[in-house]
Amino acid sequence: MPKLKETVLEIDLSALEHNYHFLRSKLRPTTKLMGVVKAHGYGSDPLIIAKKLVSLGIDALAVAYVTEGVQLRIAGIKVPILVLHPQATNFDLLIAHHLEPSIYSPKILKAFHQTAKKSTLKDYPIHLKFNTGLNRLGFWESDLDYIAEQMKGTNSIKIKGILSHLAASEDATEKEFTSRQIKAFEKIVNNAEATLGPIPIKHLLNTSGILNYPEAQWNMVRSGIGLYGYGNDAAIDPLLKPVVSLRTIISQLHKIEPNESVGYNRAFRSPGFKTTATLPLGHADGIGRQYGNEKAFVIIHGKKAPIIGNVCMDMLMVDVTDIDCREGDEVTIFGNEQTAEVFAAYANTISYELITGISSRVKRVYK
Ligand SMILES: *Cc1c(COP(=O)(O)O)cnc(C)c1O
Repeated sequence: MPKLKETVLEIDLSALEHNYHFLRSKLRPTTKLMGVVKAHGYGSDPLIIAKKLVSLGIDALAVAYVTEGVQLRIAGIKVPILVLHPQATNFDLLIAHHLEPSIYSPKILKAFHQTAKKSTLKDYPIHLKFNTGLNRLGFWESDLDYIAEQMKGTNSIKIKGILSHLAASEDATEKEFTSRQIKAFEKIVNNAEATLGPIPIKHLLNTSGILNYPEAQWNMVRSGIGLYGYGNDAAIDPLLKPVVSLRTIISQLHKIEPNESVGYNRAFRSPGFKTTATLPLGHADGIGRQYGNEKAFVIIHGKKAPIIGNVCMDMLMVDVTDIDCREGDEVTIFGNEQTAEVFAAYANTISYELITGISSRVKRVYK
């Protein structure tokens, strides 16, 4: 890479390719892989990621909301796209771009069915989402009769898939709960097929599900975070490669005397002679105030520099007293040297929140 001149989010498509093949290696040859590119491709760039995944042979993609799917279609993505949380107000748009809704309640089924009939659709593919314990979205098993009633004699919609979502697939302490979710899904699938006929695609597992419960693959799995290089597991992380790295440069160095303060509200009071570096990124870029006041570290020339004082909107300051560095030198917030999982943990959050929160002001560059 050429020398950095500003804050960038580096996107490494070879890392994505590596992670794709790693996840595929965990699947039976017949299991389909759906790539989750919601939330701006987990904060990266949904179009670049989706195009790369399609070129690698991804079977389908998933987004959270209709507008995210529309963006992919406009960019020419042709593979099936599941919308995990469609809103009735966007059904026309969803249909116009041939996105597949995850239908999660009697009310939303009825609304979608009405729209489909009105639009004189034929065999429009939908997925039925069942709640098995996450208690977020989903039909209850007892809704099967209602679903059967709606489906009777209709040819405007067709059930293509059935899914549920695990609540704690990454938690070793919740194995029993997860096993109960898997059993509940199995029962629902059996009853649904007995009531509604064969359902082509059955999918339950997210990334940690793929890694921890491979027996529950059915015939498709949905991976997000794993494709971006995180496995929610210290044993797995070395086998994956981070797709995004947040890097910046030192704007200015300051010599600080004992008892001087640094930053807003004078939150850092210097106990001695210090050198600080000011970096051109702040909470408006997605590095929140929770990382300030020595909670988190950035990496400069392989060494850890603590963030001192309050994180500002557009800048933050780090202590570089013990690091031999100059203005213009490169700084890594997260990437290979310190993963997003490690950086997120400084503020008691998770890689998902950190990487999806890097704001659009940060330039995306491709490796
Ligand atoms: C976000 C999401 C996923 C992807 O989860 P990862 O842990 O990132 O693999 C899968 N399924 C559903 C329903 C989701 O909302």
